[in-house]
Amino acid sequence: MPFKKSIYLNFNLKIALFVLGSSPLIVINYCSSMKSAKDKITDAGPPGRFEVIKEDRHTGARRGRLWTAHGVIDTPVFMPVGTQATVKALEPRDLTELGASVILGNTYHLLLRPGMEVMETMGGLHKFMGWDKPILTDSGGFQVFSLNNLNKIRDNGVEFRSHIDGSKFFLGPREAMAVQRILGSDIAMVFDECMPYPCDEQYACRSVDKTLTWAASCLEQPRAEGQLYFGIVQGGEYTSLREKCARELTAMGFDGYAVGGVSVGEPEDIMLKGVEDGLRFLPAERPRYVMGLGDMFQMSESVARGTDMFDCVIPTRVARHGTAYTRKGAYPVKGASYKMDSRPVEEGCTCYCCRNFSRAYIRHLLNVREILGVRLLTIHNMHRYLEFMREMREALDNDCFSEWRKECTAVLRPNGLKSRAVDR
Ligand SMILES: [Zn+2]
Repeated sequence: MPFKKSIYLNFNLKIALFVLGSSPLIVINYCSSMKSAKDKITDAGPPGRFEVIKEDRHTGARRGRLWTAHGVIDTPVFMPVGTQATVKALEPRDLTELGASVILGNTYHLLLRPGMEVMETMGGLHKFMGWDKPILTDSGGFQVFSLNNLNKIRDNGVEFRSHIDGSKFFLGPREAMAVQRILGSDIAMVFDECMPYPCDEQYACRSVDKTLTWAASCLEQPRAEGQLYFGIVQGGEYTSLREKCARELTAMGFDGYAVGGVSVGEPEDIMLKGVEDGLRFLPAERPRYVMGLGDMFQMSESVARGTDMFDCVIPTRVARHGTAYTRKGAYPVKGASYKMDSRPVEEGCTCYCCRNFSRAYIRHLLNVREILGVRLLTIHNMHRYLEFMREMREALDNDCFSEWRKECTAVLRPNGLKSRAVDR
């Protein structure tokens, strides 16, 4: 039984209800101190405990740790996206070996298929997909507004038609939190309106008011055991709206906060300003997450502004298109010049793909559409992303984040900021 409008009331009662992956980063040369912040991490904590272990002296960057019901997350962290209860082409075993500490699940997609009756019967998302580490779920707001032209926005949510078969659904604060409760995620996001770019100020004002009303309503909904609720700062390119939204959400008191509505097609300078505006008025003692942003340069800049968490489909999506991320940039492995190339996808890389296979082999698999080609390239790209974040944490641990960032910028943006943001 799907979570369709016709039955959702009943159901509610029942639940009460590149660019380029180059990270440079030979940071070790710059590090004056090799004292590890890990030395300070000794004890466990209840879900929601967040500890800022170290703060960079020159920027807003910080090294932190977040405790959840399914384990601890070291920050800054990149969360692989598992849209359909799977990180595309990767097994949970791969993710563990690659060092992923938390993944993201999508409320919208799981609500449509397999539906909440299946999810509830199967005991939630962790059991369903065989992943016992932390999961963050989005609220479906982004997809409802971006995938559906035929939606009707009401005071208490959005009526929309499935992009798959056109059937009617309704999602609002009450329903979005109910779905996330059934999924049993460790971190649930509030239901918000992700406004488009560009967006006029009048619309943005009304939208932020709606997002705030919905956030307050979300906070009242029952939670899964140990589940954390994160508020989302919207406001588009308008600094005063970002400030208003952040201040009011903070007053409501969430376990963590996110900045939404960035990387939606705006130029890079406006995107980074949106991140800055969104973060500025959030409490330093809580984790801060920038949603949907996964360009490496933009992540390092966002960390410098105080971000702790990221998610993005880039590493898995580009692998499916035959593109590899390396420290020196991205390149299409399918290219004819790699036909006889016996080197690994990235020389010096320690991932399973690079330790065992050549570019010629990966190119061949991709060209004959063997699924192993996508799988191996995804393993490599995800390794690159998670290594990038590990190197960033190490730079913070060792008091050399600024040097690391400088080198990052020189490699990733030799010609300055991009005029257009990277697709999310
Ligand atoms: Zn590799």
